[in-house]
Amino acid sequence: MYQNVVDFIQDIYKTKEFLPLHEPRFFGNEKKYVNDTIDSTFVSSVGKYVDQFEQMIAKFVGAKYAVATSNGTAALHIGLKLVGVDETCEVITQPLTFIATANAISYCNAKPIFVDVDKETLGLSPEKLELFLKEFSFINSDGECINKTTNKTIKACVPMHTFGHPCKIDEIVNICDRYNIAVVEDAAESLGSYHKGKHTGSFGKIGVFSFNGNKIITTGGGGMIVTDDEALAKRAKHITTTAKVPHPYEYIHDEIGYNYRLTNLNAALGVAQVENLDIFIKKQRELACKYNTFFQNTDIEFVKEPKNSKSNYWLNAVILKDIQQRDEFLEYTNKRGIMTRSIWRLMNKLEMFENTQCGDLSNAKWLEDRVVNISSSVIL
Ligand SMILES: *Cc1c(COP(=O)(O)O)cnc(C)c1O
Repeated sequence: MYQNVVDFIQDIYKTKEFLPLHEPRFFGNEKKYVNDTIDSTFVSSVGKYVDQFEQMIAKFVGAKYAVATSNGTAALHIGLKLVGVDETCEVITQPLTFIATANAISYCNAKPIFVDVDKETLGLSPEKLELFLKEFSFINSDGECINKTTNKTIKACVPMHTFGHPCKIDEIVNICDRYNIAVVEDAAESLGSYHKGKHTGSFGKIGVFSFNGNKIITTGGGGMIVTDDEALAKRAKHITTTAKVPHPYEYIHDEIGYNYRLTNLNAALGVAQVENLDIFIKKQRELACKYNTFFQNTDIEFVKEPKNSKSNYWLNAVILKDIQQRDEFLEYTNKRGIMTRSIWRLMNKLEMFENTQCGDLSNAKWLEDRVVNISSSVIL
């Protein structure tokens, strides 16, 4: 059985060599634009590619404003700061996510709360969110959502679109609106994914993307904050660029800012990659379609895009019967040069988040034991 999977993957990638999980692809203007930054000497924090990259992403996502950052984690950190998350606050997120989501909450000195995911979307469950808020929170006279257990303000919620599959983000935003909780969407994995025809990352007050080397398109390292709120966008630009007040020759900074800029060199790569984003998405979806057909004749389940959604299928995933099968599958494929990986260890099981408040996490636990990522590099 597992040999059939290995044969199939080696066949579609036309190689018996080592296959990484997700390699970047450069087939457009990448070298031209990167060389242009070198020729012009504008390789660092100033240059036309940063502005251009921001405009292209804003347009693609359908957001009014986009602010580039040095990586997706930095974008999340600033996104949370912008909606007012600080040491007096708590932030709801899912336990099944990449560590950056939970780390960004900690950078604000806030505490996370882990609420379960849906089996269908792998993302935050609106039903479980509503249940948690009903049981554990109340709205105080200032309209703030207060956690009954800790007496702290639940300020924000960070749903994540796992592997590019959109979660039920419209329902989540609705619930959060009722409880006065700001939604910061971790759309790091979901550039090119839509829920009910609207781009992921454009539902919440703020959306965040990543352009790390393993994402659907890359700047080497990079991130983006998107929003429709002009004031938030301006503040995002300000505090990610050391909070410098414009002045012809003096250095004046009006608050503690961050050096979270994306360099022009990185942005040049990004502009070239966005030019081909439609091709990346089309090819990823074609690959997923092949996997789907193949796995239909096996007893391994292929993870498909949720209802009412169009996924970029950034990372393909399968669901094994149980943890023993999962481990056998991981052993078998990795030994034969096909890189496969289990889904993340749940955040609440990691040492630094051991004492975190959690809702019922039965879906996340079920998925943690069974989900495996398989080869997902774009086949051109
Ligand atoms: C990649 C990723 C990020 C941000 O990653 P960076 O490497 O900092 O760009 C954040 N959240 C999730 C879910 C991710 O997959």
